[in-house]
Amino acid sequence: DIYAVWLRNDLRFHDNRAIHQALRAACETNGRVVLFFHLHPNFITTIDSHHDYFFQSVHHFQEKCQQLNLHLPIFFGDPHEAFSKLLASFNTLKAVFYQKDYTRFGKERDKEITSFLHNKGIATYGFSGSHIVEPDELTKADGTPYHVFTPYFRKWQQHLKPKTVSINLEELKNRYVCHDSHNIKDDTSYFKHHVLAHCHQQWTDIGEEKAIELLEQFIEERLTTYAELRDQPAQSGTSNLSPFIKTGALSPATIFHSVTAHIDTAGKGAETFIKELAWRDFYAMIYHVYPETDTQEYQLKYRDLPWQKDEDELWQRWITGTTGFPIVDAGMRQLNETGWMHNRLRMVTASFLTKDYLIDWRLGEAYFAKKLIDYDIASNVGGWQWAASVGTDAVPYFRVFNPTRQSERFDPKGLFIKQYVPELAQVPVKYIHHPATMPHATQQASTCLIGHDYPEPSVDHALQRKKTIAIFKEENLS
Ligand code: FAD
Repeated sequence: DIYAVWLRNDLRFHDNRAIHQALRAACETNGRVVLFFHLHPNFITTIDSHHDYFFQSVHHFQEKCQQLNLHLPIFFGDPHEAFSKLLASFNTLKAVFYQKDYTRFGKERDKEITSFLHNKGIATYGFSGSHIVEPDELTKADGTPYHVFTPYFRKWQQHLKPKTVSINLEELKNRYVCHDSHNIKDDTSYFKHHVLAHCHQQWTDIGEEKAIELLEQFIEERLTTYAELRDQPAQSGTSNLSPFIKTGALSPATIFHSVTAHIDTAGKGAETFIKELAWRDFYAMIYHVYPETDTQEYQLKYRDLPWQKDEDELWQRWITGTTGFPIVDAGMRQLNETGWMHNRLRMVTASFLTKDYLIDWRLGEAYFAKKLIDYDIASNVGGWQWAASVGTDAVPYFRVFNPTRQSERFDPKGLFIKQYVPELAQVPVKYIHHPATMPHATQQASTCLIGHDYPEPSVDHALQRKKTIAIFKEENLS
């Protein structure tokens, strides 16, 4: 009998429950194990940063398997086509094991494929592993879902956390299907020539070894100061682990247990960090219960706000980081250049697009989705709806971020701005947050002529703030 593990956002050998259970089943029945990846056609319609990073992670994992002498087949095609190839390759397939996927797309795909497999007499088993507390695990005492983070977090803290599982790689190697004895027609070469070859950018920080190294480094060097430094983009005070969490190169439970082990020494830093991990679970739970919120506002009363939907001049300024507000521009350029953006700047740039430009949050969400290598639909939608004041437990609409004030607070010396907006590199700190106020002589001295080298502010923040609040107020009255 063959037990197959269908890999998706769990590209790791540590704490991989699906592999662990498949191996166990194989050991108990003297069977064999095989791992495989399914490349769905929907994944390759656009190749952008987030797909580039994910595909290179798949390739990295495939190479790692190769080093262990395990062949990882990739099957391409719509579910029926791809899974028919799987069945043709392994005619004694008994069961398929996988990590549960709670996205709307993932749930629908899994339903379709599991029913296809069941009809062929093949069992399927889904396992936890993408969250510390799974999206369907926690409800209020009356069985209804939480809507507010604080009480959710209280219950989350008390909830028993899963132990991590470890896999004996030697045993896996012994139990792995022998590649030569099967007629495997997989699509690895299609993947290499039509997908990997079209990636725009090469990413180097990939894979579980790198992830574990970065986790250990973060715990040793930055966990203690996390609470103080996490909001300052120039300080690299956060873990930068999100891309690895996204691909599953690092299991959330592994992070949780490693950080919890340092709670006595790292104190507030560790507590604050764990709370952030819980936000990820909270947003995943909200999206699982309300899948329609991927495109619709969580708050019903805000479903008809008159957002701008045109990708006009202001939109172009936002995506290219030329709004004339240095902190917004630095954030957008960080995203465009690195595929990642600091959390504080995600809040600032999202607030700016929605509250200063009044542009539809869905456009911003879609842009982040293309660019972010850590793109996660639940956290991204959650973050956008939070910033636009239309989500669950969102920032109240009357508290509009002032981009200049945010800049003064979180990048006081303008170091981050100068790193990503080089035309402002010579601007004195006094003017770095609002360069348009520089006297002409200072502009000349710092080789930054406003309107020529760096744009004037594209909007009047005070005016836009008033407009936004008025629009929300009107919606509340109607
Ligand atoms: P750390 O501060 O080191 O936090 C550790 C981990 O906790 C993160 O890796 C992440 O898994 C989780 N986390 C931290 N903050 C949040 C948060 N506010 N919401 C949910 N989880 C959190 N995160 C994504 O992973 N993917 C996204 O697509 C995404 N889009 C966002 C869009 C907007 C508009 C906003 C405001 C936030 C978004 N976030 C998203 C959340 C957050 O910005 C990132 O998780 C964080 O910046 C990743 O960097 P880090 O790993 O250094 O975080």
